[in-house]
Amino acid sequence: MEKKPCLWIIIPCYNESEVLPITAPMFSDKIEQLVQAEKIAPDSRILFVNDGSKDDTWEIICRLSAENPRFQGICQSRNRGHQNAVLAGLMEAKERCDITISIDCDGQDDINAMDQMVEEYLNGCEIVYGVRSSRETDTWFKRTTAQGFYKVLNGMGAEVVYNHADYRLVSSQVLQAFADFHEVNLFLRGMFPLVGFKSTSVYYERHERIAGESHYPLKKMLALAFDGITSLSVRPIRMVTGMGVIVSILGFIGIIWAIVVALMGKSIAGWASIVCIVCFLGGIQLLSLGIIGEYIGKTYMETKRRPRYIISERTEELICDKKA
Ligand code: UDP
Ligand code: MG
Repeated sequence: MEKKPCLWIIIPCYNESEVLPITAPMFSDKIEQLVQAEKIAPDSRILFVNDGSKDDTWEIICRLSAENPRFQGICQSRNRGHQNAVLAGLMEAKERCDITISIDCDGQDDINAMDQMVEEYLNGCEIVYGVRSSRETDTWFKRTTAQGFYKVLNGMGAEVVYNHADYRLVSSQVLQAFADFHEVNLFLRGMFPLVGFKSTSVYYERHERIAGESHYPLKKMLALAFDGITSLSVRPIRMVTGMGVIVSILGFIGIIWAIVVALMGKSIAGWASIVCIVCFLGGIQLLSLGIIGEYIGKTYMETKRRPRYIISERTEELICDKKA
């Protein structure tokens, strides 16, 4: 009989003690269903990544793991954010399975889309992006800013699948290649398309959070968006150069005009215009410096090559596995 692929579901968790007891059985039911349908291997697993939670999320993960070996967990030594938690899970899983599916633990992403994701993998796709078919559960503000963000990103030359967040199937072959991407500022949804391989999208409805609250307030969302743009594209810095050229040309024309006016003996009482020009140039210069500074800051961070995640604990099966 043909060998079925071993699936690991990677689930980042930060302060999710309210949510986990409800969603964990949903994930294991889905795995059982896929195993029964003979789509995946019976030893498929669910890997929770505790991202330095301050509540008893890790205790719940350990309890789940003790009750059912299908549930496994790793615990980050501190909170490092959603992107790093997903990466930690993917890197932990990459040599132990054939496919991974990353998904949030709050039940917002439709678990049933996994059936089609696995089907697409069996048909030869190495990456399957989960794409939200609508954004009705979002507020008007989140919907509009998200759409604007995807437009800006694509305009900047970054290849990002529209309305895809971090619900995706990735094969271990892609993960092996992905391990060579060493950046510290992670924006996974923009990085996976860079790996290449055959990919496709699967559409699903996004629901409301089952319990608890979002950990992505406006400030964090903006930070992620900014990281996405500056990590994936150097176009902003080129725009600054372009702006510099235009301003220099205008400045040069202005100087010639001023000389001509002075030679003609017509003095200019141009206090207002001088102030305007100074402000304009000052503004442009400051903006440029800010953007350049952002890139220099990023380069500085990247040269440190700090570990992107540090695992402090493992559930029993994973410890034995590592030693073997
Ligand atoms: N998360 C994480 N670390 C963080 C913040 C969030 O691992 O610092 C996890 C969280 O537990 C959830 C997922 O990332 O599984 C998405 O977070 P959330 O649902 O709060 O974001 P939203 O869906 O509102 O964008
Ligand atoms: Mg959520």
